[in-house]
Amino acid sequence: MVLKNGSADMASDIEQMEKHNIIVTTLEKIWNWGRARSFWPLSYGCNCCPIEMMASGAARFDIARYGYEVFRASPRQADLLIVAGPITLKMAPVVKRVYEQMPSPKWVLAMGNCATSGGPFRDGYSILPGAEALFKVDMYVPGCPPRPEALFHGLLELKKKVERGEY
Ligand code: SF4
Repeated sequence: MVLKNGSADMASDIEQMEKHNIIVTTLEKIWNWGRARSFWPLSYGCNCCPIEMMASGAARFDIARYGYEVFRASPRQADLLIVAGPITLKMAPVVKRVYEQMPSPKWVLAMGNCATSGGPFRDGYSILPGAEALFKVDMYVPGCPPRPEALFHGLLELKKKVERGEY
């Protein structure tokens, strides 16, 4: 069935399709629908923000209600890098390599002020001024540290971007 343009026609077409259990869409939309609901984050963190990230997986906050609880120990099985905490110059090549080992499509969420801009250590001699210096960041979550609710808000905003195919 081909949808006609025009709201009345379209509404009746959609009613017809629902009656016959037919949905017309594109493969890309189905993939993005699935990708947005099943991020597999990498188990990575440094400093204090990861404590909030770990709390988000515990019973009180329960990240599993969004389907994002499958934290992976290997970058080869992860599609979301939550950069939680500062990146030291010494760690930068390691974080970059870990990112490159993740299969595409993949996303990066910068959690907290350190990952966003270097945070309170920005003027230090040993800290990168944000994860953007290493790779493209898809979502920023400000705070020092951001609470689990803020992380969830960032993840749900990232979900909308992925659904729209903006990555
Ligand atoms: S943003 Fe604040 S809480 Fe997070 S790692 Fe940096 S100093 Fe720690």
